[in-house]
Amino acid sequence: MTPTVHHVPEHHHADVSGGWLRAAVFGAMDGLVSNIGLIAGVGGANVPPRAVLITGAAGLVAGAISMALGEYTSVKTQVEQVTAELEKERREIERNPDGEIEELAKMWIARGFPEDLARQAAKVVHTNPEEALRVHAQEELGVVPGEQPSPWTAAFSSFACFAVGALIPLLPYLFGATVLWPAIVAGGLGLFLVGAIAARFTARPWWVSGLRQLLLGAAAAGITYLIGMGIGAGASAL
Ligand SMILES: [Zn+2]
Repeated sequence: MTPTVHHVPEHHHADVSGGWLRAAVFGAMDGLVSNIGLIAGVGGANVPPRAVLITGAAGLVAGAISMALGEYTSVKTQVEQVTAELEKERREIERNPDGEIEELAKMWIARGFPEDLARQAAKVVHTNPEEALRVHAQEELGVVPGEQPSPWTAAFSSFACFAVGALIPLLPYLFGATVLWPAIVAGGLGLFLVGAIAARFTARPWWVSGLRQLLLGAAAAGITYLIGMGIGAGASAL
């Protein structure tokens, strides 16, 4: 008699990919770099503080929408592709169980399982079509059926993370600053902070990662500041 398999509840692993925190940190970093650059650019052109505030706010909203749209499309496309592949796999398991059992057995043989053991295990897995789909999905596509990311969640969270990052250099202007430097300081502190948090995902010490982000952001701000200053000077000479 062939034993049947039942779905076994899984134990949980630590989220080695960094999950939501990783996405949040990099989203906020995008917002910071992009709006520090924008604010330094218009600030360098010596426009009134109100104009800097409007530009920064528009940059925040435009950037966040762009990130959300990009993320939505990317996740949606990925989910659709995986769903189509899973349907294909489900049909194959129904129509051609012997071929699928052989396919699974071959994958395990390639990993070093003894042939008869691999064939027997593949047969056992196929006594339960849902379990067979799970195993094929994991082995062939690297996904778990029914555990696909939501495009809406991805879109909203990338909108929010970008917006939080972009808001930081804008804060001094919101509170009535009339010069550029407080915005640059706020943005610099924000960059150092997200850089330090991002060190969790690498082997680098937190302060090295923080300083690196700070320097990269400063370079971006320096470039746009010079461009703004050049165009501002050109415009006032007209
Ligand atoms: Zn298959």
